[in-house]
Amino acid sequence: MTQAATHDHAHAPVSQGYIVLADISGFDEYLTDVELDHAQGVLKELYELISDYLIPPMTLASLEGGAILAYAHDEDLPRGDALLELTEGTYAAFRDRVLTIRRNTTCNCKACINIPNLDLKFLIHHGEFIARDIEGGSNLMGLDVSLVRDRLLKDQAVGEEGPRRAYALYTETCLTHMGISADTMIPNTASYPHFGEVKTAHVDLKSQYQTLNDTRHQAIEDSKADLTLTHEYDVSPPVLWDWLNDPHKRTRWQNLRDWTPFLRPEGRLGVGAQNHCAHGLGTIEETIVDWRPYESFTSEMNQLNFPFKMLETYQIESLENDRVRLTMRVRLANQRLRFLVGIVLAPFFRADLQRLERLIAEDGAAK
Ligand SMILES: [Zn+2]
Repeated sequence: MTQAATHDHAHAPVSQGYIVLADISGFDEYLTDVELDHAQGVLKELYELISDYLIPPMTLASLEGGAILAYAHDEDLPRGDALLELTEGTYAAFRDRVLTIRRNTTCNCKACINIPNLDLKFLIHHGEFIARDIEGGSNLMGLDVSLVRDRLLKDQAVGEEGPRRAYALYTETCLTHMGISADTMIPNTASYPHFGEVKTAHVDLKSQYQTLNDTRHQAIEDSKADLTLTHEYDVSPPVLWDWLNDPHKRTRWQNLRDWTPFLRPEGRLGVGAQNHCAHGLGTIEETIVDWRPYESFTSEMNQLNFPFKMLETYQIESLENDRVRLTMRVRLANQRLRFLVGIVLAPFFRADLQRLERLIAEDGAAK
């Protein structure tokens, strides 16, 4: 249960958690001298997309002149790397949508031509806040909130060509809480009144997105799959993604498996990360070989006690009515063992996907 449900309106308690500002870059320039009704339609669609991805797991606080302010109590985001996935996955969906909107319009007004100039950035901090529930969101208060809300940290996201437009910037306090190392990020420091020196590290989301697009997909193609299962769920892509990747959650819905994190080469989940699973027949070592939050990931499953290896791809598609479709594909390394698919693997995995639906519904009802 979240703390929000126990809030007393007169004395809202001080909470600890993550504070996120998702801010569209190029917002002011975009609205200058354009067909306002076209521009508003585009911005509305993009804000809805961002809020569909962030909320949940985060809670909406307020809209701040072109930005979405949201927060999460610690217990709502127990896995630190989930926050990295949240910025990367939301950014990829935003970028894809911007291109889709532009491609689907034949209008040549300035608002429609300039759509691809819009970009997305995140400012993220961990600290204390007071959340008072108001209609349509929460009023978020506290010194730590203003560090993010007033965009003070924005100046620290600079590259060689000047200020960046697409990034996720975390305070050092936030990264420490997430348990994530800043080694692969760009560090910076600045001083602010009331705060003193604040250290940050940021990720260039645009170049990360381009690198990922240029990387060859390792996912199992439909025609190469020995088994393809689909199932629909009543959650957003980020929430389903967490069920598929959080070791505690996986252990709950995957029968006979007990997952523990094993190796995190970059200090996080991603390509090369390994998980171990103890089960009745020994140990499975999982190695992630393809990682695209919140679209798909592919893992190699290797039985350590006897020679059995297979690839698993999980792919998520958004549907209407806030539902998602999960497609699971399996390919065995040893094709002579394919007879096992129909008699063992198919019923086993199908039961897992159904169990996941029940657990998601139970969790939703408990909130
Ligand atoms: Zn137009």
